[in-house]
Amino acid sequence: MSKQSKIYGTLANKMRSIVMLLSTVVLISCAFYILAAGESEQIVWQRDEKKVAITFDDGPDAKTTALLLDGLKARKVRATFFVIGEKAEQNPELICRMSEEGHLIGNHTYSHVQLNMLSNSQACSQVKSANDVIKEITGQEVIYLRPPFGEWDHKKDCPQNMIAVYWDVDPLDWKRTDTKQIAADILRQVKPGDIILLHDIYKTSVQAAFIVIDELQRQGYEFVTVEELLFA
Ligand SMILES: [Zn+2]
Repeated sequence: MSKQSKIYGTLANKMRSIVMLLSTVVLISCAFYILAAGESEQIVWQRDEKKVAITFDDGPDAKTTALLLDGLKARKVRATFFVIGEKAEQNPELICRMSEEGHLIGNHTYSHVQLNMLSNSQACSQVKSANDVIKEITGQEVIYLRPPFGEWDHKKDCPQNMIAVYWDVDPLDWKRTDTKQIAADILRQVKPGDIILLHDIYKTSVQAAFIVIDELQRQGYEFVTVEELLFA
């Protein structure tokens, strides 16, 4: 074997190894892809199940959130709370209760600001401050963020790397006072896999939540946290 062909042979062997390595990578990637596809199908299938997530923004409030937690406990329902950092600081016992009673706690910024109107560092600081307050109370990392007003600039690259959670059903409970109308509006729209948006700082919203829960449980719905709904 000439030196040149030996080099060629070595190169050919290297090339063969690289091709084999690439094939393996592709095969593994495909396997992951297929698995991922299977998982996403499973998520779709999960969304066909009678499962919904009820979520509450803007709390905690000493009166109305406590009332809500009592009612959720009585109905064996776990909810998701997107809390405001400064209110969490004022009501740490309610944050503790949420955590102990199996609810998921998410971030709704420190002082309820419209994140896309802020500079990158201001927006990230709002997210971080709320995370810090919640973690200080519960000892748990915060993963989920509901941006106030649904406004979040995805170009803002915060080190916190939060998962933004929006909603499917919005009865505009913050500007209505008729409890039955709020509940009827949700019940008219809701379908399996939906995320319902309410605000636990209004007594009317808390009462509407109880009507909705009682009716959906009667229809065979199960209430899960946002995390369970999205990643079960
Ligand atoms: Zn809000």
